[in-house]
Amino acid sequence: MILLGVIGNPVQHSMSPLIHGAWLKENAIVGQYNLTEVENQGNLEQEFLSLQEKGYTGINVTLPYKFEMFTIAQKHGFEFSYEALEVGAVNTINFKKKQALNTDVYGIRQMVKIKEDSQILVIGAGGAVPAILYALQGANITIANRTAAKAQALAEKFWCDCFTGDLQKLNLSEFDVIINATSLGLNSEKLELNYKTLRKQTKCMDIIYKPKITPFLQEAKAKGCEITNGTTMLIFQAQKAFENWTGIKPKPETAKKAMREFVL
Ligand code: NDP
Repeated sequence: MILLGVIGNPVQHSMSPLIHGAWLKENAIVGQYNLTEVENQGNLEQEFLSLQEKGYTGINVTLPYKFEMFTIAQKHGFEFSYEALEVGAVNTINFKKKQALNTDVYGIRQMVKIKEDSQILVIGAGGAVPAILYALQGANITIANRTAAKAQALAEKFWCDCFTGDLQKLNLSEFDVIINATSLGLNSEKLELNYKTLRKQTKCMDIIYKPKITPFLQEAKAKGCEITNGTTMLIFQAQKAFENWTGIKPKPETAKKAMREFVL
């Protein structure tokens, strides 16, 4: 019997129990994937230690604790993966091996296949973005965000160009790939851009996976652009975590099938 789970706030709508549950079943592993909601950041370390004490093999770490978990893992002598160290955030813990990983980087690399001279626009500067900027290093990246300070700090750390302020002033025709990494779209709010400047050759991606097609992706689809939602990133970060915990590389198709009826 292995114990797995996710820690964050909120976690009730997480797709991870579905994904990991399907993989446990498919591989005939007796186990559970449980949700731990931690309302107060002050209790995070205590919950982490309590899960370790209960014999958990590993956990995922989600919003808003990926950065705080880095500090906790460091304090308790966990070994960091290269990606976790570079990004400064942890989304996977393996208690048995005492490892702290960032598998979001792998998820993003499965979603965005870059060429060295690709011009990539990443919109947003929230918690998900450091892993994206690190994963895409090698391309020419511009980070754009409504609030200047966050984007400027990330641009400096990851050597990107930076655009701040009114996002409608961005000339979208300059980019081969555009990634919406804001939270706009989760509740059908539209990311306001000058869509007239969008070329159909530009690949448009959203890291949001629910709804399947955000207003941003709808605009891109209407222009004839190739579109991708955040399902790929979600499934592949989970695959890497599951593999680390169990030694088995699970099938992405099984996860897709498990998610299908829950994602609109
Ligand atoms: P954060 O809350 O940390 O950041 C939100 C970002 O959206 C900020 O850059 C913010 O800009 C921007 N934003 C919010 N409202 C507006 C607005 N009205 N106009 C312009 N910009 C706005 O979120 P995360 O980075 O943690 O997550 C972003 C999304 O990615 C979430 O929807 C999450 O569900 C999804 N996600 C998907 C993953 C996957 O595996 N597919 C993994 C992780 C996240 P500002 O700085 O100006 O406030």
